[in-house]
Amino acid sequence: MTGLWPHQYEAADLAFRGRNVIISTGTASGKSLAYLTPAVAACLDGGTVLYLTPTKALAADQLRSLRELRITQLRAATFDGDTPFEERTWVRQHANYVLTNPDMLHRSILPRHSQWSSFFRRLRLVVVDECHGYRGVFGSHVAQILRRLRRACARYHSHPTFILASATASEPGVFGRRLTGLEMDEVTVDASPKGATTFALWEPPLTELRGEGGAPVRRTATAEAADLLADLVLADVRTLAFVRSRRGAETVALTARAKLADVAFSLPYTPTHTGPATDAKTGSTANPPAHPTTTTHAQTTPTPAPTTDPKTGPTTNAPEDATTATHAQVTPTPAPPTDEKTGPTPDTPAHPTTATHAQATPTPAPPTDPRTGSTPDTPALATHAEATYTGAALPPEPPADVSATADPGTPSDPETTADAHPGRPRERGDQPSTQPGQPPSSLTWAIPEQAETDFNDLADLPNKIAAYRAGYLAEDRRLLEKALREGTIMGLATTNALELGVDVSGLDAVLIAGWPGTRASFWQQAGRAGRDGQDALAVLIARDDPLDTYLVHHPEALFGRPVEAIVLDPDNPYVLGPHLCAAAAEIPLTEDDLPIFGPTTAKVLEDLVAEGILRKRPAGWFWTKRERATDLADIRGGGGNPIQVVESSTGRLLGSVDEPSAHTTVHTGAIYLHQGETFLVELLDLEAGVALVSSANPDYTTFARDITDISILSTERSQPLGTGTLHFGEVEVTRQVVSYLKRRLQSGESLGDEPLELPPRTLRTRAVWWTLPASAVAPLAEAGIDLGGAAHAAEHASIGLLPLFATCDRWDIGGVSTELHADTGLPTVFVYDGHEGGAGFAERGYARATDWLTATREAILSCECERGCPSCIQSPKCGNGNEPLDKRGAIRLLNTLLSPQ
Ligand SMILES: [Zn+2]
Ligand SMILES: [Zn+2]
Repeated sequence: MTGLWPHQYEAADLAFRGRNVIISTGTASGKSLAYLTPAVAACLDGGTVLYLTPTKALAADQLRSLRELRITQLRAATFDGDTPFEERTWVRQHANYVLTNPDMLHRSILPRHSQWSSFFRRLRLVVVDECHGYRGVFGSHVAQILRRLRRACARYHSHPTFILASATASEPGVFGRRLTGLEMDEVTVDASPKGATTFALWEPPLTELRGEGGAPVRRTATAEAADLLADLVLADVRTLAFVRSRRGAETVALTARAKLADVAFSLPYTPTHTGPATDAKTGSTANPPAHPTTTTHAQTTPTPAPTTDPKTGPTTNAPEDATTATHAQVTPTPAPPTDEKTGPTPDTPAHPTTATHAQATPTPAPPTDPRTGSTPDTPALATHAEATYTGAALPPEPPADVSATADPGTPSDPETTADAHPGRPRERGDQPSTQPGQPPSSLTWAIPEQAETDFNDLADLPNKIAAYRAGYLAEDRRLLEKALREGTIMGLATTNALELGVDVSGLDAVLIAGWPGTRASFWQQAGRAGRDGQDALAVLIARDDPLDTYLVHHPEALFGRPVEAIVLDPDNPYVLGPHLCAAAAEIPLTEDDLPIFGPTTAKVLEDLVAEGILRKRPAGWFWTKRERATDLADIRGGGGNPIQVVESSTGRLLGSVDEPSAHTTVHTGAIYLHQGETFLVELLDLEAGVALVSSANPDYTTFARDITDISILSTERSQPLGTGTLHFGEVEVTRQVVSYLKRRLQSGESLGDEPLELPPRTLRTRAVWWTLPASAVAPLAEAGIDLGGAAHAAEHASIGLLPLFATCDRWDIGGVSTELHADTGLPTVFVYDGHEGGAGFAERGYARATDWLTATREAILSCECERGCPSCIQSPKCGNGNEPLDKRGAIRLLNTLLSPQ
């Protein structure tokens, strides 16, 4: 076991001793070695190994590396939808290392377990790779599939050890136990070395444009990203920009190229960004006092005032930045906070205990370009930065934020908004999708002819920037990698499709246009910067959205906290029921099986029998129908009959959208995003189950608006919350999509509403809600506060902030607020899971209510708009057209709620 990092050794050693273990560490920390060692040993010893990964692509990658080991006794094979039938028999009978995915396990392997008997009998180890992708409803399904797997193994008298590999997450052991139902050790230390990264949090300025209700609109994150990309490339900094949609990525690349073309003709160069935008109000919060013990990375002098270019001396604000000057402030660079627990943060090599924390450490020198030995001049960066931090140890890695499981192309117009208001839109019900692969298409980037370009050759400047998206052929990807390595391309704008294809190491800077959804994804993307232990730069550019606003004003929410826990709820009866049927079809269920499937099993079985779905006999529960029981569980969908999304001109099936989210994502007139490409929905035919779309390039994006009613079915938990009461329980939600809002892509400007006629839908789900007693509310009413508007504003902002506490998207959850709710008789604000039966998000909100609602109040407070805007209390999917909303009232209301009793 030499040559392993301690964390690899620890995980492998636990597995050797038959202990289930989850290893949760950062990018490039060599997790695969931790499971490969015991896995190969099991095979050499006559056992078998089952390897599970969310995507076929990852399984193919793994297979390649296993084959490179050239161990003859290792008979590794993939078993997935692409495996030809003639090969399947061979795999079942002879392979001792089978790589597959949860879908195949669910639909094929477990239902035909008897054909796999010799494999199951010898099964020693189950590897669940990239398991952070198993969250929410999808994760809950996978949890039940793994319970069925354990039961099948038991039938063949094998009791395999489970090794889970995850991106960095909070409480990985808890997650591992929920996912497998087994006791789980955790290994979280990451000993692999990394350089320091300087972080900048960047808030685009408000513009003169007006959105809904006359609210001010911010400059878009993509417009800012394009400027920064151009500036960095000019400064000879190799930069990657993450943009939500392909269209957005292309816009960023094109705009940045145009800027470089301008520069090429108008030297000497002046940075395009010279106007500082540091917020005066937040300067103090964002900039903690310098830590006295900071060492080599700490700059002994304050960073040059933002408007000063260290090389060229002071420059003046360019006229184009006039709007930013309003909140301009020259701030010395802060030395970021040091973790109190660990004391002074050491130099570069990651402190072992920092692995799971995003730690802020002293500000490092800017990234040095190893080629030139010089420090790239990135003056423009300081100017707009709200705060600058360094994470000594890039914590972590990536929840493949589902990108691995196919998030990128999910049907949600969110991406579309990417350009204007990226961020927002993930539709509720957005599942890791099973979208068909995208056919490769021609490259949109051009690689300059000569391999070695003289950087001084200014006419060639624009060609140093390219856009990248999913679907490129392997050889195209290799070309791009080569161009990046050699420096013929210095700047690349991409969607997170990059996670699936290109190996870009050796970057100096990463721009992230819009909060990527989780701290874990954020670290993953930021972790792309920094070559060979060099220092690096990462910039988060906020979109016009409450969560992004909150984060750029509250760096401590990013840097002072561990990454998210992975949330799932295997006890959701809507998930459990179908898997109990599948399990009964595999092997009739007996009383002894009940504990495997969790505490609600007996009750759910009773219901299934009452509905005539399962039969109860003295020997247990039986599936007696002719249909396949596995068809009941739509593990990647959200229930209902999926709507097929079809390109009308070609008949090509682009993918499917589950019925509940079809109303919001593919209604007639919707702009639908599929794997980064934009389509216009010509017609949604619910009866035929089809949405006809055509390729389009409109300059607007759409947001469905719904009206919602909610009634409480049962209250499961209650607790006091400040002056009010917090509840969690089951609710019935009736939603009807009534219209959609159009917004201009580049500016975010509202173009008005279009009505829709869609039937209402009911959803039984779980919700968290809070109420205030009449005694607490009376003074507010007396002070002239519009209680309805205040509650409504608080609801919108709290929906925007919940993703910070539960690993979900804003569009996975919904809310209702009312001045007087029929079931509570009090002012009440509900936030519910947008999935049948619940998904664990509202439950997480209940558990973290004080932090969550405090952050909500802070988000509203820190937005500098006067009466509310999309960055704080406006919601793009509000069925009431964002009326009424009372910003100051919401702050008062939350103050009242959160004040100690
Ligand atoms: Zn605002
Ligand atoms: Zn609303």
